[in-house]
Amino acid sequence: MGLPWWLLLVYLRHSVKVGPSAFNYNETTHWKDHFPMCGGPMQSPVSLTATRLALSRTPTLKFADGLEDGEVEFVNTGREIKLKLMPKNRKLPLLHLISYSKPTLGIYTFAQMHFHWGATPEEHGSEHSIGDKYTDAEAHFVFFNTRYGSFKDAVRHFDGLLVLGVMLEGSENKNQFFFPTLGMEKGVQHLAVPGGKFREKLDLSPVQDLLKRAVRRFYSYHGSLTTPPCNPVVSWMVSANPMAISGDFLRALRGRVFEDDDGNQLLVNNRRPVQPDTRSCHHAAHQHRRVVSVLAGLRAAQRRGDRSPRLGEMAESAGRAERALRSPPAPVLSCRRAGSAVTARLKSKRQTYRAGMIRLQSC
Ligand SMILES: [Zn+2]
Repeated sequence: MGLPWWLLLVYLRHSVKVGPSAFNYNETTHWKDHFPMCGGPMQSPVSLTATRLALSRTPTLKFADGLEDGEVEFVNTGREIKLKLMPKNRKLPLLHLISYSKPTLGIYTFAQMHFHWGATPEEHGSEHSIGDKYTDAEAHFVFFNTRYGSFKDAVRHFDGLLVLGVMLEGSENKNQFFFPTLGMEKGVQHLAVPGGKFREKLDLSPVQDLLKRAVRRFYSYHGSLTTPPCNPVVSWMVSANPMAISGDFLRALRGRVFEDDDGNQLLVNNRRPVQPDTRSCHHAAHQHRRVVSVLAGLRAAQRRGDRSPRLGEMAESAGRAERALRSPPAPVLSCRRAGSAVTARLKSKRQTYRAGMIRLQSC
């Protein structure tokens, strides 16, 4: 845990940008050398276990009109295949997701979706695992919190993003619901190299069916982007039931798109390994001690007469958090299952800032 929590706050609000950045899936352990938040708390993906992560209430999905007359744009970004999904009235986003329970509480606007996958049928491609079980691929539907107006602004806030993950398992059995191919087979040759893109007009109703199935039962936890700069601003929902994806679709991902302009390096294994679980009580206790010591440092700086407005503001907020942490019942230390226990505490929060601080440390 190399990154102090207060530095994280400063990063999120003042200096973090998400955009094209140099990083390599062969060196995920070195991401933190250039992107400090990748070495910080609350990193994703994680191994999902029912004992640690609460299943939340089913959210409401509100789809735009004109789905039957939609359009999809595929792009090879060099890291993934990204899709923008647009209904007939293209001024509107495809959908809004409204969630009523933490840690996914809020109204979110759909931005884009993309895939993570492996190199061969023998290698897994999902980023999350359910228990020890991985799948062939994982789709991420990325939403931003509507209150922040745009994806770009949302990534600076702790509750900025929601990502719905769907685990995908290759299958040749036609008698089941398949993840829709969305016309990828028609233009995959245009996606061979980074920057390659194509558009396809098609009915987006199958996406509606897919998402309704995906949100029936899901794991939720607070985590991060799984690519640098790894902002810990993501409310994750991961569908508890893996979905089937056609063998042809998987073979196209594994064998027909490249990560370099010369077409030498297949774009495969674009997944970050699961990250250490920072939600254990042991960790929470460690962080608790850390909070107290940092708070003491901040207050000392204030006593010295440091008049930096940021420092003063942080010290004041931190003092409140410290009092909250010290007052019984101790919110973090008493947990048996940190994820759900802390979520329960958040529901009875007395101060917004206090809740944010505790979540930042442990949930
Ligand atoms: Zn992703």
